[in-house]
Amino acid sequence: MAPTHVLRCCQRGLAWIPVIFIALVVCWSYYAYVVELCLFTILSIGEQIVYLIFFHLSFIMFVWSYWKTIFTQPANPSKEFCLPKADKESYEKEERPETQQEILWRAATSLPMYTRTGAGAIRYCDRCQVIKPDRCHHCSACDMCVLKMDHHCPWVNNCVGFSNYKFFILFLAYSLVYCLFIAATVLQYFIKFWTLCRRKSAENCPKNDTHAKFHVLFLFFVAAMFCISILSLFTYHLWLVGKNRSTIEAFRAPVFRTGSDKNGFSLGFRKNIAQVFGDQKKYWLLPIFTSQGDGLTFPARLVNAADVEQATVTPRPEPSKSAADDVSVSPVGESQNRLLCNDQHANNIGDHQANNTLKSAESETITISVESES
Ligand SMILES: [Zn+2]
Ligand SMILES: [Zn+2]
Repeated sequence: MAPTHVLRCCQRGLAWIPVIFIALVVCWSYYAYVVELCLFTILSIGEQIVYLIFFHLSFIMFVWSYWKTIFTQPANPSKEFCLPKADKESYEKEERPETQQEILWRAATSLPMYTRTGAGAIRYCDRCQVIKPDRCHHCSACDMCVLKMDHHCPWVNNCVGFSNYKFFILFLAYSLVYCLFIAATVLQYFIKFWTLCRRKSAENCPKNDTHAKFHVLFLFFVAAMFCISILSLFTYHLWLVGKNRSTIEAFRAPVFRTGSDKNGFSLGFRKNIAQVFGDQKKYWLLPIFTSQGDGLTFPARLVNAADVEQATVTPRPEPSKSAADDVSVSPVGESQNRLLCNDQHANNIGDHQANNTLKSAESETITISVESES
């Protein structure tokens, strides 16, 4: 056991290397910009003040969002997604997959879930011994199930998921702003150093210091390089937010009762944005948690739309209590009834679903959001 423990500790230590690398680059960029550029190179006091104010604003927002992305714990499935003790024992003793699935189906009838495996089975993590909520995946690097898992990011040494996805987007946004600001303001001094000073026309040259020259030239190259790489990643994640998809779902569409649907969780552009950033715009740009929901349940557009149609035509039948429920006994019906009774869920996703189910007049809202996606 001891060598495994040591190996695990070494792996954990090594995993911090990319974060330390970024931290060192950021510290150096701070020194190079503030000391070497603003204090030693720029001659105008006014320019110095303006640059330093905007630099520090972007620096603080960047470091704040980076910190929150790194140190926000990934959210895990709640206890209700663990099998009851008796079911867990019989699941572990059972060797036949069909009987194991029966146990899972029985346990899952009381859980709010829409998605299944590709084969239509209940999604279960053997490692964490937990029924996976919608959009939850097991991360082998963190060795845990993470709610609305997006990906494991080595640059933050953390899983990006429900609890920190907004922080991650803001981290990309502010790092882009930080690099763009540096590249844009350093550019004129970069050109001066590169051209004028090479011709040794010292009068037009900024304070001619080899030290500063090296830092300013290098600062521009590094900022421009990071700009290009972050821009593509940031654009991709903005597109994902607009579509309400995680990176995992972009590669493998979630499977619903009606089959796999890559837009299964998409509610229309505005609502998709609100899912991640919240509905209060004043908090959108701050790395404060404002994402909607609890990470365990998410409104699914086709499931809800189908139920709205059903609700407007016929009264919802009582959900079956049979232990031998199969796919034809809708787990969605069960989950929605449960959501409607659950105060915690009703605050967030439940609101959306309760409105859909109970108020037939609001079915138009759903129809619009579905159409906008199709
Ligand atoms: Zn797991
Ligand atoms: Zn992870």
